[in-house]
Amino acid sequence: MALVVTKFGGTSVATPEKIRAVAERLVARKKAGDEVVAIVSAMGHVTDELTEMAYAITDTPRMRELDMLLSTGEQVTIALLAMAIHELGERAISFTGPQVGIVTDDAHAKAKIVEIEATAIREALAADNIVIVAGFQGSTRDGEITTLGRGGSDTTAAAIATGIDADVCEIYTDVDGVYTADPRVVPRAQKIDRISHEEMLEMAASGAGVLSMRSVEFARNHDAIIHCRSSFTSEPGTIVTHEETTMENAIVSSVVHDMSDAKVTLRGLEDKPGVAATIFDMLARENVNVDMVIQNISEEGLTDLSFTAPHDDLQRVKTAIDAIAQKVGARTWVLDDNIAKISLIGAGMRTHPGVTAKMFRTLADEDINIDLISTSPIRLSVVVATDDTERAVRALHTAFGLDHE
Ligand code: ADP
Ligand code: ASP
Ligand code: MG
Repeated sequence: MALVVTKFGGTSVATPEKIRAVAERLVARKKAGDEVVAIVSAMGHVTDELTEMAYAITDTPRMRELDMLLSTGEQVTIALLAMAIHELGERAISFTGPQVGIVTDDAHAKAKIVEIEATAIREALAADNIVIVAGFQGSTRDGEITTLGRGGSDTTAAAIATGIDADVCEIYTDVDGVYTADPRVVPRAQKIDRISHEEMLEMAASGAGVLSMRSVEFARNHDAIIHCRSSFTSEPGTIVTHEETTMENAIVSSVVHDMSDAKVTLRGLEDKPGVAATIFDMLARENVNVDMVIQNISEEGLTDLSFTAPHDDLQRVKTAIDAIAQKVGARTWVLDDNIAKISLIGAGMRTHPGVTAKMFRTLADEDINIDLISTSPIRLSVVVATDDTERAVRALHTAFGLDHE
């Protein structure tokens, strides 16, 4: 008998028929002798639709109310799934995040889980239930409803799996595993059978939406296994583990693209100590997640500074940026929404020089201009224009030998 935490994403529960199929899978699992917890997302595009409704009312919804709204999506799915399991004659009970003690900080719309008080789940399992939990949500110690950021149901699943010490955390989705690139963009991408937490974390942090970054963080910190697999087949998917990957011979193991950032440039700044500190202090106070930063060479004591941040944070950037520009004496600021970040990931990059040169050469051959650059020991990222994304990802995937034969 195993204790399994499963998670089904939006596409997997998009219709009542699909919810019934998930119910059948869970019941079969329980009948095979396992204890089963299921985390579910909002149906289909419900989270997007709810967000659109909010912005149809106001350009500046208060984050508390946005969370109140968005958290309802998952609540629909949990109730329907419980009903579908009851129809199959099995015991099941649904819970919201707060009901199972998912405690978060108060950063609305991107709250971090700080504690899981798993008693409710354990008791419901002991009472022979399939336990269904709403993903993507929790509450602060004061009882305020929060959400965990897009893709947050993965995070809920991994947090619960580690919180109840599950044997495995299975993330069911609309692809059959983690690929060497987004299969929607690169038809010749290959499924990766096993990948290390470290590489998966870097992929997720670079924007591979297949697993949320925090879900991989939870798994790594607790040395837990995530199995990312298809909702529509029973084929094994990708195992994310602490082990070294079998692809360790590949210098680059995946190409990741991310279109969720925008670039802000402050122009005509004074080039003196303390300016950058002031800018990023003020952005941090607005809870803006800054990703890449570049400062141009100064001319006559003035310089430009660019940074990227998620579209989701743009409202907060806009709120803060005029005050920032004024405080540091910037002449003006500009926003560029038309950017994509392309990253090469690979543990082998540590020991193999020359990846940078090859990346730049490949992009140059495609006549693609590189804007910003950033690196980590196992990642190399560049920013290009949105229109160049697909060509860049495919060319790099081919150049680094990742194409399926
Ligand atoms: P869910 O709703 O189940 O959480 P998501 O849409 O969040 O599903 O994640 C699955 C999607 O992630 C896939 O449909 C795929 O297009 C995308 N994706 C991006 N990068 C990768 C990758 N490297 N491997 C697999 N899928 C990827
Ligand atoms: N429903 C949320 C989203 O669409 C959370 C999730 O599906 O993981 O981002
Ligand atoms: Mg997802």
